[in-house]
Amino acid sequence: MRILRGLLLISAALAVPASAQQPTFSNAVTGFIKINAPVVALTNARVVDGTGAPAKEGQTLILRGGNIAEMGDSSRVKAPEGTTTIDLTGKTVIPGLVMVHEHLYYPTGPGVYGQLGGSFVRLYLAGGVTTMRTGGNVNGFMDLKLKELIDRGEAAGPSIDATAPYLNGPNSFQQMRDMKDADEARKHVTYWADMGATSFKAYMQISRAQLRAAVKEAHKRRLKVTGHLCSVTYAEAAEIGIDNLEHGFLASTDFVTDKQPDVCPGQQTGQRTIAALDPAAEPFKALVKKLIDRKVALTSTLTVFETFTPGRPMPPGLDVLLPQLKQQFEQNYQRTSQNQQSIYATLFPKALALERAFARAGGMLLAGTDPTGGGGVVPGYSNQRQLELLVEEGFTPLEAIRIGTLNGATFLGRDARVGSIAAGKQADLVVIDGDPSRTIADVRRVETVFKQGVGFDPAKLIASVSGKVGLW
Ligand SMILES: [Zn+2]
Repeated sequence: MRILRGLLLISAALAVPASAQQPTFSNAVTGFIKINAPVVALTNARVVDGTGAPAKEGQTLILRGGNIAEMGDSSRVKAPEGTTTIDLTGKTVIPGLVMVHEHLYYPTGPGVYGQLGGSFVRLYLAGGVTTMRTGGNVNGFMDLKLKELIDRGEAAGPSIDATAPYLNGPNSFQQMRDMKDADEARKHVTYWADMGATSFKAYMQISRAQLRAAVKEAHKRRLKVTGHLCSVTYAEAAEIGIDNLEHGFLASTDFVTDKQPDVCPGQQTGQRTIAALDPAAEPFKALVKKLIDRKVALTSTLTVFETFTPGRPMPPGLDVLLPQLKQQFEQNYQRTSQNQQSIYATLFPKALALERAFARAGGMLLAGTDPTGGGGVVPGYSNQRQLELLVEEGFTPLEAIRIGTLNGATFLGRDARVGSIAAGKQADLVVIDGDPSRTIADVRRVETVFKQGVGFDPAKLIASVSGKVGLW
């Protein structure tokens, strides 16, 4: 990055006083910052604004007070005297990613999910994620506390929509409560909303009565509920008023013929029916219509399913993992690649076709990564991979970027401030060395991530956790 004038590579000692909207950063955070000035001009940039509109060449953006104060052709918009100016010739600015199925935990051992929020929030930011919803919580207070620490400038990471611990019925997960009845679902929502949770996630063994009670209580507080379902069908959840469904259609049990109410027939049983589903046939089209009529958004999490599918490339980012976790995933990868019987050989391409059909019919498709499964979904890297997979699914790069930015922000009710690039909006921007509007893989080439106008250094964020992701 060439800095033409007003050279201001700020270190901890030289930190410029924060503007009204920005927190005062702790020393630990200032070490990750490479640009922090009262006014920053990004000149000669290619802008992909996140709305799906074509890229605009030769743009200048003036960042002031955490916002995009002005934007337009570089011939017209001039940087005020003494401004920190960064020439982005040949480079692209996209909105900070807004992804909605993120987690601050990772599978570390049999049935155990390690609380890795400390490293994950840095990796998410390094990958270009400036806003995210955690889509389920097995950390207790960690999601809520990290959200606060980041907001206060004491940790580097995206702005977090923090989810409460999962809403679930009797289950065999070690880190998940067995809710007994609908009244407990209501109490769970009340307690965690009071503690600061801003969204909720229903899980595979919840009953319709529990889901109904949770949705009612959350909606009273204008909070949203999503679900990775199994015991409750997508159609039932839509009628109950759920706001969002996770994992595309791969968690749908709507097409299991002998499905018992409130009973999860097993994820695989549901997935066998999905693998056999015809996207053009009436039963699927009726479900899509119901979801759209009820304004239920759908989250695509192709990154986690890719790790289950034979013949797919090794996922990016494994080098940041603790060596044992890296090795553990590599063994899983070998096992997956040798599994000739894997249902994912047909299910993964079907997942793409069904999601695409939903979006093309007018449904609201969101993006997330889900760093769970058998490992290998590494925050930040996986968010970039998710955009690549949306292009493989059949979206244009501009559409994929919109799904991973403005759609997420719109669902979260934050689109007035973030999710797209326009004068007046918050300066959450990713500077990319390349042109992702043509070659989506260029999203991996992140040079700087601006959050509220402050430019973070992805290399430093990654270096600070590299080889240790798995410990904290
Ligand atoms: Zn998940």
